[in-house]
Amino acid sequence: MWAVARRRWIGYAMGSEAAAAAVTIAGLVTGFGGAVQFGSFAVLAGLGIAQAELSRRIEVLRRWMSGQTHINVTSVWYLAGAFLLPPAWVAVLALVLYLHLWLRVWRHVRTRPAHRFAASTAWAMLSCFAASAVLTVGGLNRSPLDTAHGVFALILAAAVFELSNVVFVATGIYLYTNSRSPADLVGTWEDNAFELATLCLGGLVALAFVHQPVLVVFVLPPLLLLHRYLLLKQQLQVAVVTDEKTGLLNTAGWHDLATNELARVRRRGEGSGFAVLMIDLDHFKRINDTYGHLTGDEVLAAVAVAIEASVRQSDTVGRFGGEEFVVLVPATGRTDVLGIAERVRVAVGELTVAVGGPVRIDGLSVSVGVASYPEAGTTLDEVLRSADAALYRAKDAGRNRVSI
Ligand code: GH3
Ligand code: MG
Ligand code: MG
Repeated sequence: MWAVARRRWIGYAMGSEAAAAAVTIAGLVTGFGGAVQFGSFAVLAGLGIAQAELSRRIEVLRRWMSGQTHINVTSVWYLAGAFLLPPAWVAVLALVLYLHLWLRVWRHVRTRPAHRFAASTAWAMLSCFAASAVLTVGGLNRSPLDTAHGVFALILAAAVFELSNVVFVATGIYLYTNSRSPADLVGTWEDNAFELATLCLGGLVALAFVHQPVLVVFVLPPLLLLHRYLLLKQQLQVAVVTDEKTGLLNTAGWHDLATNELARVRRRGEGSGFAVLMIDLDHFKRINDTYGHLTGDEVLAAVAVAIEASVRQSDTVGRFGGEEFVVLVPATGRTDVLGIAERVRVAVGELTVAVGGPVRIDGLSVSVGVASYPEAGTTLDEVLRSADAALYRAKDAGRNRVSI
């Protein structure tokens, strides 16, 4: 945390954690909101854990794939909790479900640092506490749900939970990333629609709980389906921008990324830029003619790995066409860009691809065309054309070389 997070985020996160601990302990000690029904608590915690276990694989994949996610399926249990349990106990429910999620899912996902998980836990606890506290103070908790009073209480609890969680999380993301984009801070429309669907199910859980607790299990199948749909959506979003032969970005994905980079550079103005490397394998047709197209595909995949390994973390590699690759190199000087291009050329030259049996393919080479913004053009298209022209010069000059 000290190494990667900004000081202001650390202050905010640790403050939230201290506040979550303080209100929970104070609530437990003072008995705020009345006595807890341990049965209700145990059933909600048990269902939350059961649901998390049933969808564990989905959740691991989902967390692994996405950088930022706003959707937490466990919120389905908090609304019933806010309605049925004293505030501190709903916070404890959130803590239990988050701890379980940590042990079974997040701990295994390297892209998810523990300090962010701890902060999310505190925000969930505070939101749960707030939703239940509003009902307690208004004398609304455990109102009969077949009255207008009860329905109002349920909607109020949902609104307080959702609003406070959005504010806590958006503030956290803003302090962490400095992003001002609404999609980053509060999620997309679809994220929010999903959250609404989860809360609706949460309302039904509360209703079932009060009138016929056995019916609560009926919520599990639709919840699992919703969860599965979330994963599918993410997988589709990834598939649309990925080249399946190499795992690199495809043309559309790379183009999107490069367009964003151009916009970013333009906002920054004077003195910033980016470069594009256009890479084409030399005499690749011969590989196909000698070994067949399937072997050619294996060579392409190996070349993709070699290119990725020889550029920096911040450079983005895409597959542009058949045996052509592109690299987006953000804000670098001319000598650095040429250095990167040269590294790519050498790496491919040193490559030996084992393609089944004793066959080893080596002696590969690439020609690389380099062009940079704004020197080579004022639009992405112009820069790409310029890189392409440079590539052709490299080919004309005898291949296996870099031209700028
Ligand atoms: P050079 O670029 O050096 O001029 O020669 P080249 O033989 O590489 O010629 P060119 O770039 O024009 O041809 C590309 C060849 O790459 C044609 C095709 O056989 C092969 N190719 C294109 N896409 C694929 C692919 O997805 N898989 C395989 N195996 N081969 C491909
Ligand atoms: Mg070629
Ligand atoms: Mg080509």
